[in-house]
Amino acid sequence: MNQRFDVTERFAPGAQFIGGALRPGGSGRTFEVVDPATGEPVHRYELAGTRDVDAAVAAAGRAFPEWAGATPGERSDALHRFAAVLAERAGEFAYAESLQCGKPLRLSTEFDVPGTVDNTAFFAGAARHLEGKAAGEYSGDHTSYVRREPIGVVGSIAPWNYPLQMAAWKVLPAVAAGNTIVLKPAELTPLTSLMFAQAAQEAGIPDGVINVVSGAGRDAGEHLVAHPDVAMTSFTGSTGVGKRVAELATATVKRLHLELGGKAPFVVFDDADLEAAVHGAVAGALINSGQDCTAATRAYVQRPLFDAFVAGVADLMAAVRLGDPFDPATDLGPLVSHAQRDRVAGFVDRARSYATVVTGGDAPQGELAKGAYYRPTLITGAPQDSEIVRSEVFGPVLVVLPFDGDDEGIALANDTPYGLAASAWSRDVYRAGRATREIKAGCVWVNDHIPIISEMPHGGYRASGFGKDMSAYSFEEYTQVKHVMYDNTAVARKDWHRTVFADRADRG
Ligand code: NAD
Repeated sequence: MNQRFDVTERFAPGAQFIGGALRPGGSGRTFEVVDPATGEPVHRYELAGTRDVDAAVAAAGRAFPEWAGATPGERSDALHRFAAVLAERAGEFAYAESLQCGKPLRLSTEFDVPGTVDNTAFFAGAARHLEGKAAGEYSGDHTSYVRREPIGVVGSIAPWNYPLQMAAWKVLPAVAAGNTIVLKPAELTPLTSLMFAQAAQEAGIPDGVINVVSGAGRDAGEHLVAHPDVAMTSFTGSTGVGKRVAELATATVKRLHLELGGKAPFVVFDDADLEAAVHGAVAGALINSGQDCTAATRAYVQRPLFDAFVAGVADLMAAVRLGDPFDPATDLGPLVSHAQRDRVAGFVDRARSYATVVTGGDAPQGELAKGAYYRPTLITGAPQDSEIVRSEVFGPVLVVLPFDGDDEGIALANDTPYGLAASAWSRDVYRAGRATREIKAGCVWVNDHIPIISEMPHGGYRASGFGKDMSAYSFEEYTQVKHVMYDNTAVARKDWHRTVFADRADRG
């Protein structure tokens, strides 16, 4: 299953996929993909400059008329072939994703890659179900209907935490709806986005429909967002950068879709299944080394269960095996980079002055010391308004706080600027039901935390952004609706003309 390959050989022509061909970037600067498990460089590539972005946007613009004009059935067929190519190449994708991100091969093999194949198959089907309002005679004298049309060239920017899935979430609804796209992956992790675009070409999706520019956020990213020939910006990343992207997109009045940060609450009521909640919290906090925008980050536990929950989480976290991402026995890999590890360590170190680090809180020594590893970390005693409770840490760190009444638990869950995801743990359907209604987030799980599915939307409330990835709802972002209205009366002097010609003697 694991199909290793020589990355440098594979991407020797360059890390820009423009108009169907790999080529080097022209920024004059290079960047290194590093294996975060070892700190060793994997591949050095030339970053995209603004001219590469211009070339990619032009290629997408040239490809647009034919792709937009293809029938839904033709686009669907191409996407079905694309899903098949991705499935055939699953081993290569899993290898490259684990190499550039440090995530356990088990995670890329069982989550990232099959999730991407399933998403592609979903959009192959959904491409034939672009629906609008039924045609009808709403005025009495006209027939109205809605055309759902693609927007044009979409510029998308993705983060490094799930590079393959983020590429899929951006590209698939866009191209299924007839748009063409220029995707900018994060500088740290361009490999699987490039492979994704190559697989699309292999499946027969025309050159120029999917382009990838591997460049830095400040120049290639900003140029893509500000580009006058880009009709829509779709961005997934931090809330801070999202605000800058929104400013730039506004200048050219672009359609905007923002998937931003999160700080998901995990609310455990006192009738919850404790074992399920403890396992759910540890898995939900540690998946992808906690670098997940929906990760469980703030557990609020009702007082009667608090001590047992903390003890259970501490024991389970201490038993987690850190190690080589390619070792099947490894539970937790490194963070994506040493810089990210140091950022996470900074949050935890600052928290020591006002909170208790129950377990973890440091990097492992010995063989793993050269990698960007950080031990699973449990923190208690932090005030609700402290940095560790309010800010997105994006690492394997869980904060646990107690609450008393149900009102308080829900209020604490909502006491955040973010609103991406949350979970409620209870055996009482009414309590859990109330939490699903009152917690302000784009997704609320009951008695679980993390699972996603192609048929259901993913997207935030409040500072977590707006717009949806996955599911048929994503077509609302990537299409625009046009009202077409036909006169049915064949009368030259229409009744409504009285509003203009009221005094005319010749009105019929
Ligand atoms: P980031 O915001 O630093 O970078 C995201 C992307 O934006 C990268 O491709 C980067 O090169 C680019 N970028 C940076 N500065 C830019 C600029 N000025 N103009 C245009 N582009 C720019 O985020 P990250 O550190 O790569 O990823 C982690 C963040 O992503 C977290 O906040 C996480 O919550 C968020 N995220 C959100 C979702 C979601 O669905 N809501 C999913 C995954 C990750």
